[in-house]
Amino acid sequence: MVVAKGVTKRFGKLEVLKGIDLTVGRGEVCCLLGPSGSGKSTFLRCVNHLERLDGGSLTVDGERVGYRRRGDALHELPEREIALQRRDIGMVFQRFNLFPHMTALENVMEAPVRVRRESRATARERAGKLLDRVGLGDRAGHYPAQLSGGQQQRVAIARALAMEPKLMLFDEPTSALDPELVGDVLDVMRSLAADGMTMVVVTHEIGFAREVADTAVFMDEGVVVEAGDPREVLDRPVQERTRAFLSKVL
Ligand code: ADP
Ligand code: MG
Repeated sequence: MVVAKGVTKRFGKLEVLKGIDLTVGRGEVCCLLGPSGSGKSTFLRCVNHLERLDGGSLTVDGERVGYRRRGDALHELPEREIALQRRDIGMVFQRFNLFPHMTALENVMEAPVRVRRESRATARERAGKLLDRVGLGDRAGHYPAQLSGGQQQRVAIARALAMEPKLMLFDEPTSALDPELVGDVLDVMRSLAADGMTMVVVTHEIGFAREVADTAVFMDEGVVVEAGDPREVLDRPVQERTRAFLSKVL
């Protein structure tokens, strides 16, 4: 579903990604770990077409991100068409960024109605089911300010799912939450994984990574230091940098 080969990205003089290789199979969960500033968010943003790569290649479901193949040539896609590619990818951020003036249900309906031109009736029915799925069927009429951070984050997940993405990206989805609210969000992510959703998850939740991930990837300073079976990477890391990081977060 995701194949990154030698992905590089710089901001001015700062080389943030220095050749990332990473593969996520269909239906797999990949957890990305690493210290702050190592390039995890930048990598996710590249996968989601929010940043342009400087080098290397990135394909999502066989499509080269930002390009289309015509015959033997690759053509860079204009912004409008990049938006089309992006529709198939759901993203959930640390900060939930719900629309504050819309109810939970309206937040989930918004993109299907506006982007996919779904009828309000259809969108409403689907949104209700998605809120049920994240355990918030009884909060459909609440505004974000009336919901806890964990509930808001689950609405954000339902909102991403409303576009029926083939890939879900999570950027530290539980980092901004009070500890007692983390579990409900991880439970929703666990059930998504069990349903076969392909997911790339940036997280410091080692327990979640160990239990749910097919692959754990440890990044530091723009490179993949160590990647593989989470039981290896997290419990028997080979690289000194991985060990040092894990000893701090555990
Ligand atoms: P992580 O998510 O692992 O904490 P980031 O991908 O957010 O790391 O950032 C990696 C590095 O890139 C950091 O040094 C950060 O300051 C820098 N960076 C990220 N986005 C930008 C940007 N838009 N402009 C300039 N520097 C950036
Ligand atoms: Mg980040």
